[in-house]
Amino acid sequence: MGGRMSIADNLQRVRERIAEAAGRAGRRPEEVTLVAVTKTHPPEVALEAVRAGALDLGENYAQELVAKKEALEAAGVQGVRWHFIGHLQRNKVKYIAPFIHLIHSVDSLRLGQEISKRAQQAGRRIPVLIEVNVSGEETKFGVPPEQVRELAEGLLELEGVELQGLMTMAPIAEDPEQVRPIYRRLRELAEELAASGLPEQSMRHLSMGMTQDFEVAVEEGATIVRVGTAIFGPRRQG
Ligand SMILES: *Cc1c(COP(=O)(O)O)cnc(C)c1O
Repeated sequence: MGGRMSIADNLQRVRERIAEAAGRAGRRPEEVTLVAVTKTHPPEVALEAVRAGALDLGENYAQELVAKKEALEAAGVQGVRWHFIGHLQRNKVKYIAPFIHLIHSVDSLRLGQEISKRAQQAGRRIPVLIEVNVSGEETKFGVPPEQVRELAEGLLELEGVELQGLMTMAPIAEDPEQVRPIYRRLRELAEELAASGLPEQSMRHLSMGMTQDFEVAVEEGATIVRVGTAIFGPRRQG
């Protein structure tokens, strides 16, 4: 592993790149939350990130998230904000409902209803984002842009969920400039919805941008970026 940058170095570099991108767009770096995506990495790696100042961690499988949370707590770590960023099955909601900080990937009212039910059982409201399939790729989860309003209105009726905005995954691209129109479209969609009746608070977050393209996403208005590889190096699978 000689010469490999440490997780702390990588985190700092990602933070600097976020700040530079924010500066180019006339934004403040504090407007952007960095979610460190620890999926597939062992708890010790997540622990190293937390010790280096990562407060927000992202996972895409419920059981893996819960196991990592428990391992970190056993190591004495409290106060991590856990983000669920993957496709969420309804029968897994109960495992994360008591503590999850933000679910990025709500793509149906039925899932929203299950989240609401489990949140109420846990005596809380769970912040959620709607996952939007902006690119129209068939392999991607998420709702098409023209169905976001209806889902948003449905989610706003639910006691146990607090809609906070939109999330998208961009297709893999060689050049990050290729995904700029997708991120721009997500921002415009949130703006259009807020301008035409949805509460502004319900459209305040845009979760977009990964290792390949987070600077472009920040330039286009991301308030949350989800970065794994640039912090932790390549994953073995997935
Ligand atoms: C894995 C994953 C990421 C992070 O991807 P990197 O390219 O490693 O930064 C971000 N968002 C989602 C939804 C993911 O599943």
